[in-house]
Order: sequence, then structure tokens, then C-alpha cells
Amino acid sequence: MTRRLRLSAILLLASFSVVFPQGTPAGWTDVMAVASVWKATVAYDALTGTGHFLRGADLVRFKRDYPVYSVGSGLSLRAPAVRDTGARLEMSSEAVAAITRWFTERDAERASRFSIAAILIDPGHGGKDSGAIGEFGTGKDRLRILEKDVVLAVGADVYARLQARWPDKRILMTRTGDTFPTLDARVDKANEVPLEANEAIIYVSIHANASFNKAASGFEVWYLNPEYRRTVVDSKKAEGVDKNVLPILNAMLEEEYTTESVFLARSILGSMKKNIGAVSIDRGIREEEWFVVRNAKMPSVLVEVGFVTNEAEARLLSDREHLRKLGDGIYNGVVDFVDYFEHRKGPTAP
Ligand SMILES: [Zn+2]
Repeated sequence: MTRRLRLSAILLLASFSVVFPQGTPAGWTDVMAVASVWKATVAYDALTGTGHFLRGADLVRFKRDYPVYSVGSGLSLRAPAVRDTGARLEMSSEAVAAITRWFTERDAERASRFSIAAILIDPGHGGKDSGAIGEFGTGKDRLRILEKDVVLAVGADVYARLQARWPDKRILMTRTGDTFPTLDARVDKANEVPLEANEAIIYVSIHANASFNKAASGFEVWYLNPEYRRTVVDSKKAEGVDKNVLPILNAMLEEEYTTESVFLARSILGSMKKNIGAVSIDRGIREEEWFVVRNAKMPSVLVEVGFVTNEAEARLLSDREHLRKLGDGIYNGVVDFVDYFEHRKGPTAP
């Protein structure tokens, strides 16, 4: 912050015309001294008589000899005016107390507000682990598609867009190339992010589906039902579902559950439907008992972007434009969730 405090002796007389409720000139303090106690910067233009205190994101505007302080978005505090002695700017103890109270309230409000400090995008599989594989056609119609490639392309899009939107948040990826981080390494990456008391991280794992039923197609988003926390994933229940995600689900079971995951899942699914609903089936939110999250500080979801074992969908998933729409869908869903999460106080009531 630049500091510009220009005092003018010409304006000395004007300050005595102000009427104070308490009337006593005792308890006047140098504005610079007060500002340093607040850890605020001061700007003052002696010509217009206007100035402000800036403390973090909180701005208090004042006008010399005018007993109202503007504190943003139409709000104001009524307190004795700042006066200009020519040698220095002064403020009454009453005004100091009013502004101190306002700064303190802003601090309390910020402390009570939840924020998403970090977002971890986890493209599944990678390296030696291809994930699901789809192979179709012959000759020039031949298509071989690997889950690890599809989810990396989608994940990289989501990552880039989130980073551009929120340079002040930590946007992370579990892998940025064709590598294979272990499940522990993926989960550790989320847990390593330092968080303040009211900060959260969200975890978005991206996968593509496979089924013996070649007709199966569509996208879905998973989260964990809280009733089943710490339940070991039941392979019977998991029948027909991407076997590769089972260990991840188990790992996620180690995390604290939160209803935030449900909101995040809905938000992402709705946004994906908007983007690709015309060409792919919405399989819905999968909240079967054995799924996802347990960390109140880490809403987590697992997105299945489509089936590589369905030829029509595999061809979609090998189309860059379709992948971009998928990425946009996930991105918009995350943004909606973050906006919702950050603009209310405290955890969501179930
Ligand atoms: Zn997978």
C-alpha cells in the first residue's frame, strides 16, 4: 500500500466547527499512531479533505470535519470527525473506538466464514496403470482408448480453469503427466495442505467407467453415505462398477464424512448434465452405501465421465471438444459449490 499523507496548514481553522456529542476535546489521538495500532495504512488528500484507512480488505473512508465514516457497500459509522490541525490529523477516542469495533467485527465475521483454501484434482490411474481400456473397430476406424489418458485430459482442463479463476487458492493435481502416484500419495497430497480452522480442501477424483455390458454408458458422481463409514468396500455391492476405484473408495473411507460431499456431487452432476446431457446419459448421484467421504474438512467426490467400453461413448471420450465440455462441466460444478460454501456461515445442516 502506498501511503500519502499530506497535511495542510491552510485548513487548520475548519476543524473547530465540528460539534461532538460528548463535546470534549480531550482524548484526541494522532491518526498515524492509531493506524499503526490497527495495522492499517492511511491515505489522506489535504486538498479534498478525504482519506481512508485500509486494513487488509477492510476500508474505512473519512472526510475531514464530517462526522460520518463510510465502511463500504452503503454502510457508515457515525462518530466525531477527523480533524486536521495543520501539523497532523487527529481523531477522537470515540471515533477510534467505533472504528476499532468495526474492524473487530469484520475479523470475527471472517473467522466464522468457511472458505475453500485448496482444491485437489485427482485424475485416476496413470503410468503403468491404464485403468479401463476400450478397443473397437478395425483399420482406420480402429479406436483404442485408455482411461488414464481421458481423465488426465479432463483433469488438466479443470485444473487450468480453477487456477485461472482463483490464483489465491491452492489448486493441486495428483499427477500432471503419465505417472502413477500411489493411492497413499494421492491422499497424502490432500492431507498435507495446511488449513486454518475454517478452511477446507475439496477432493475431486476423475475416472472413466467400464462394464461387461457394452451398452452401459453415461456419467455419474459418487459420494459416501455416512451410515457406512469405515465399512470395508463390499465387492458384491461393487459388481458392475469400475473395479479400479475400489481401493480409492476404501482410502476415502479413511477420511471424515461430510454432507458437503453430497452438495458438491450434485453441483458437479448438474453442471455436467448441462454440458453433455444431450450426448451422454445422466446416471445420477451414486450414493450407494459404500462410497466416499469422511473428512468434514474435505468434501470429496468421484466423477465417472463415461464408459470407455461403450463404443459410441468411447468415440466421444476420444474427442477433444467433448473432453473440454466434460472439464467445463466439472469446473462449473466446483465453482457453484465453492460459491455456495463460502457464502454461508458454518457447516451445512443435513
Ligand atoms: Zn478408474
